[in-house]
Amino acid sequence: MQQTSTTMRETVNQVWKKRPIIISGPCSAETEEQVLETATRLAKTGRVDMLRAGIWKPRTRPGSFEGIGTKGLPWMQQAKKITGLPVTVEVATAKQVEDALTFDVDVLWIGARTTVNPFSVQEVADALRGVDVPVLIKNPINPDLELWTGAVERVAKAGIKQIGLIHRGFSSYGNTEYRNAPMWHLAIEMKRRNPELLMINDPSHISGRRDILLDVAQKAIDLDMDGLIIESHIDPDKAWSDAKQQVTPERLGEMIGQIVWRKEDI
Ligand code: PEP
Ligand code: MN
Repeated sequence: MQQTSTTMRETVNQVWKKRPIIISGPCSAETEEQVLETATRLAKTGRVDMLRAGIWKPRTRPGSFEGIGTKGLPWMQQAKKITGLPVTVEVATAKQVEDALTFDVDVLWIGARTTVNPFSVQEVADALRGVDVPVLIKNPINPDLELWTGAVERVAKAGIKQIGLIHRGFSSYGNTEYRNAPMWHLAIEMKRRNPELLMINDPSHISGRRDILLDVAQKAIDLDMDGLIIESHIDPDKAWSDAKQQVTPERLGEMIGQIVWRKEDI
């Protein structure tokens, strides 16, 4: 048991240094079968370094799927066992951090709706004190680099050594081409201010739709981002959340193959 977890920690460290890092998996864990089949098919593409799934889903408005909850954590554990890939889930409260760690989640991420709230970020950070786990921090939903920076500082002050950033775009009023405007200059500025932190791009939540995912992903790589987190689902149109932006695991693999990578990544 000890042997297994030491090995996985080493794998996570290697993945953390790999360029580009590719993270994929469903927006939400829905059923055990869906999680395991997505994970198996993603692993088969040979293009993915880490699996993602939302277990607790902070929805902007009530009335839609708010996540399967703690029940889904053993599914992620099993997905890791089958594929050998580390797993990441979103956490927004101390209890969620505790539960995720109990089920050996390898990397935690803080979502855009949490990064906006210093009390929530502090609660998560306090729960992380004394824990050795990498944390990815999404940009806040609004274009405020100070809030994003504040979240990084709170997590760093709790003693977390491996911190990464996820650029998922910024919300704006009315219909635009994007679900969340990328405002690339903000991601670039954040990277300039924090050159030691990973910067991963999230084309799924920027695009909100499948047809421009590849263009957004390519732009992120052209701008020297360190990796991509892209949602995938075995039956995208039937997904319980974010159906329009998810792609099948096979399409994900194909897209990663279509991206023109930097010379040093090949
Ligand atoms: C997600 O990754 O599914 C998610 C809820 O993202 P965000 O926090 O960027 O909206
Ligand atoms: Mn989503």
